Amino acid sequence: MELFNSKLDEARDKPIITCLEYIREYLTKRIVNVHKVLDKCKGSLSTTATTILENNKTEASKMRVLFNGADKYQVTGLWMEQYVVNLKERSCTCRKWDITGIPCQHAIAAMYDKMQNGSECGDPEAWVSKCYWLSTWNAMYQHTIDPINGRSMWPRSDCPTTLLPPKHHKQVGRPQKKRKRAVDEPTQSLLSVIRQVMGNGDVKEVTNFKPKKFTFSSVLIYDKLVNLLVLFVMVAMSSINHTLAKACSKGCY
Ligand SMILES: [Zn+2]
Repeated sequence: MELFNSKLDEARDKPIITCLEYIREYLTKRIVNVHKVLDKCKGSLSTTATTILENNKTEASKMRVLFNGADKYQVTGLWMEQYVVNLKERSCTCRKWDITGIPCQHAIAAMYDKMQNGSECGDPEAWVSKCYWLSTWNAMYQHTIDPINGRSMWPRSDCPTTLLPPKHHKQVGRPQKKRKRAVDEPTQSLLSVIRQVMGNGDVKEVTNFKPKKFTFSSVLIYDKLVNLLVLFVMVAMSSINHTLAKACSKGCY
């Protein structure tokens, strides 16, 4: 069921007719794929169940079995691991048979012991859950879905009702105008700083930041101030030189 739900993700938000068409086409393809797999399978079980069962059969030959005279068997492995098998209830205390539906190595060892003692037991394949049988798969997927014509060939409905969209309901409160930013998206102020540092001229396109520009008058005032400063320094230097010259002429040095 969960697998089917995950396959419908693409069609879940589509209109009902589109969604139903998606499901129909998906099931058509799935049935064909299952038929292809069934054609490749050999034996009476699915490929997975056959592989697991063959491995368990190999391990079962190494087990030691003790029969209690009723339906239970005590099965001991090479590493002294020991479990109880109940063939009547189709269970083993290792829980593998109960969970998977495929007889574990202990259960198969008990079956072999039962056969050696002359009792009718049947092949281990017969003890596997029917959900692994190819006959069950064939029965489940025996039906096919017929293809259909396009919408232009569909018969028109006699239903007089016209489906109208639902009435628009205005939400309470002021509608939000600002775009929601992503979690890792930088804020507007940070973008302004980045643009200012980088010196990009496309500031207006990204943010509302406007870099300050020097006008003609401000540049003129700045030049005058620099000239005054240079003049002041030159006057100061000349007065110092004049003082030094006077001192030398008086013979101070
Ligand atoms: Zn077991």
